Amino acid sequence: MLPFKLIYSDDYYLPIGPHVFPAEKYGRIHTRLLENKIAEPSDFLTPQPASDQDILLVHTHEYVHKLTTRTLSPQEEMQLEVPFSEELVHAFWLAAGGSILAAGSALKDGVGVNVGGGFHHAFPDHGEGFCMIHDVAVAIRRMQKDGKIRTAMTVDCDVHHGNGTAAIFAGAKASTQPLPSVSASTLNAPGKARSAKADDVFTISLHQANNYPAYKPPSSIDVDLPDGIGDDDYLAWLDNALSSGLRQFEPDLICYIAGADPYKEDQLGGLALTIEGLKKRDELVFKVAKARGIPVMVSYAGGYARKVEDTVTIHCNTIIVAKEIFAKLS
Ligand SMILES: [Zn+2]
Repeated sequence: MLPFKLIYSDDYYLPIGPHVFPAEKYGRIHTRLLENKIAEPSDFLTPQPASDQDILLVHTHEYVHKLTTRTLSPQEEMQLEVPFSEELVHAFWLAAGGSILAAGSALKDGVGVNVGGGFHHAFPDHGEGFCMIHDVAVAIRRMQKDGKIRTAMTVDCDVHHGNGTAAIFAGAKASTQPLPSVSASTLNAPGKARSAKADDVFTISLHQANNYPAYKPPSSIDVDLPDGIGDDDYLAWLDNALSSGLRQFEPDLICYIAGADPYKEDQLGGLALTIEGLKKRDELVFKVAKARGIPVMVSYAGGYARKVEDTVTIHCNTIIVAKEIFAKLS
């Protein structure tokens, strides 16, 4: 039995037909976890869809009304980049409910994993980049509303910038204050880091600079990575961003957005991490959180490997690593 809970529903499947987004990945992860005895059926909790009130903690009345009455404009539907349907709306409400449950579980057990979610390109008033509802932001605002947390930190390791997250939690004005640099020997690629102040939610995004979205609203810390960066450089930047973030801010909860798309075989990514390197990435986030006693909620975000099985492996590894780290007595 795992020392934490996995949140999953067969209804996480996104009814989008043939698409670069492998909607079947959630079901395949669930099957692999059970088949390989990484998890048992009792490790899973089934989420309920978030309520409209929960969704409205982040999204505008106008946008939610358009979604529930199917009155998005053709342009708004196109911006989503997934075919709109009532079932799709249900899947996103469910993913948000899953992240609420995962956040609550994390506060209880130290870590909680939503085997889904991570829809970090959703804005308060519109969806884009396959993301309709920002499940992680909904979970944070719900935990705050319930008085369970005061502050949170998002650690977004998807290859794409967390533009929705940055817009939702926009803090004080961006500054150009650089991160303290890591040693030149570990970093030969010219990555760039931007830093801004945050209010009650501190946002960190490590992403490929030369990739979607074209406009990247400022996160509290943005690490704009050059194309083709590999394991060692990536891990050095992540370590640096986490240390810098946690020097500036004390979160009651870390929301780790564990995208599988920094992988070298990803069709929508241009970084060059290996499966082993992505495992080390997970390990770093979990070790830092555990050492400081900060609970971590995990969500999955993107993953478009040429072989879907690689995406499934990367996501399953996140759970294997969490099991190794959080099973140890502290
Ligand atoms: Zn992505």
